Amino acid sequence: MGATGAGGGGGTMSVAESQKELSVYESMATRFDVAAKKLEIDEGLQTYLRTPNREIIVHIPVARDSGRLDVFDGFRVQHSIARGPCKGGVRYGPRVTLDEIRGLAAEMTWKCAVVNIPFGGAKGGVVCDPEHLSQGELERITRRYTAEILDYIGPERDVPAPDMNTNEQIMAWMMDTYSMHVRHTVTACVTGKPLDLGGSRGRREATGRGVMLVADEALKRFGWQRNHTRVIIQGFGNVGSQAARLMNDAGYKIIGISDINGGIFNSNGIDITALLGHVKANKMVQGFAGGETISNEDILEQDCDVLIPAATESVITSRNAARIKARVLVEGANSPTTPPADDILFDRSVFVIPDILANAGGVTVSYFEWVQDREGYFWLEGMVNERLKHIIVAAFNDVVHYGEKHGVNNRIAAYMLAIDRVAFSLKLRGIYA
Ligand code: NAD
Repeated sequence: MGATGAGGGGGTMSVAESQKELSVYESMATRFDVAAKKLEIDEGLQTYLRTPNREIIVHIPVARDSGRLDVFDGFRVQHSIARGPCKGGVRYGPRVTLDEIRGLAAEMTWKCAVVNIPFGGAKGGVVCDPEHLSQGELERITRRYTAEILDYIGPERDVPAPDMNTNEQIMAWMMDTYSMHVRHTVTACVTGKPLDLGGSRGRREATGRGVMLVADEALKRFGWQRNHTRVIIQGFGNVGSQAARLMNDAGYKIIGISDINGGIFNSNGIDITALLGHVKANKMVQGFAGGETISNEDILEQDCDVLIPAATESVITSRNAARIKARVLVEGANSPTTPPADDILFDRSVFVIPDILANAGGVTVSYFEWVQDREGYFWLEGMVNERLKHIIVAAFNDVVHYGEKHGVNNRIAAYMLAIDRVAFSLKLRGIYA
């Protein structure tokens, strides 16, 4: 059995087992249980630590452009305020579920603790299909969602940010809606805002930059050179495209890229600048002339040195983990690997840099944005990037050394480190009962 003790191994699974494997909350809970047990945290505290503080479900009435009234479901799960206000993204998508938001909210608590920033974790989502919504409809959904959760958010309570299918514009509408209700402009109530509205320099690139920083640290461990390191990236949204651009500029050889419609592969390296131009014009990676067409499933299994899933959850599972050929897996997306897949990758000595470390660059610069908004003084980009590097490199070393010291893989090490920090804060505060 591998390091998570979660079983797996690619045998035949029942439908229930398969659903359990794909559940983001179950994945988080499985890893939490292994880590908390190793830390010998008592049972009552374990239950408290893995349970969210609050789950908010809202139903959002929105007038469509056609005049029809539709009602959208929305969620905000606040997992922990033990170390500071809640922090976490809001995602829009047709298949968003409460289970997924609950799991991702807890992951945010652990992520903030891994990089040692003073936040707890939260996550939000609205079940809607942004591809089939006009800008006006998106704005009305965003404003009503914000109004419905207004009593529970704010700079001292819970600070939302962008995630899948949400962006700077949506954060600007959230900030404005919050500000209209409290009667003054409160830029620190959300992060990931446009630069002209209290956003931080370097925030747009931050998650991709963090991905590159941890990849750089892995390269140092293996004595590899960037220009001989072949990289494949699944997902070409905020995280994937920024990671591709920055890593390409730094000398890495990007050989595969995909988005939801499929991907392209070129073993000689993809011209990223040309691809960015193609995607701007065509809204998708496919159709780009500088590589062969490849499916989203196949791209994960190509021979490469560094694989970066930067799209969505549960893409590396017990079904395909044995065919992953990368030596290093950098999890740009949240929860892209399931616990049974962890075990398979561990047995095959893949060096996994887990999501709560690998994609923590985003929340780290969100923290900087919150600090800058509150002090009303904005940093130069060089300072943002330098401070980000300092935090991410320190967290990488903390996790890897913790894993070596305790004889666990990087994922369990990251969970142990984070849970230990949150449990320590709780111990200092005491539990108000
Ligand atoms: P995004 O909406 O900007 O981009 C998502 C990309 O993934 C798009 O290219 C989309 O086409 C592609 N995609 C979606 N579903 C796919 C599928 N099934 N197969 C292949 N490609 C698919 O989102 P993002 O902000 O880049 O977030 C990507 C991931 O990174 C998510 O898991 C998110 O939670 C995580 N993340 C984002 C940030 C951030 O700062 N944006 C920070 C930390 C973690």
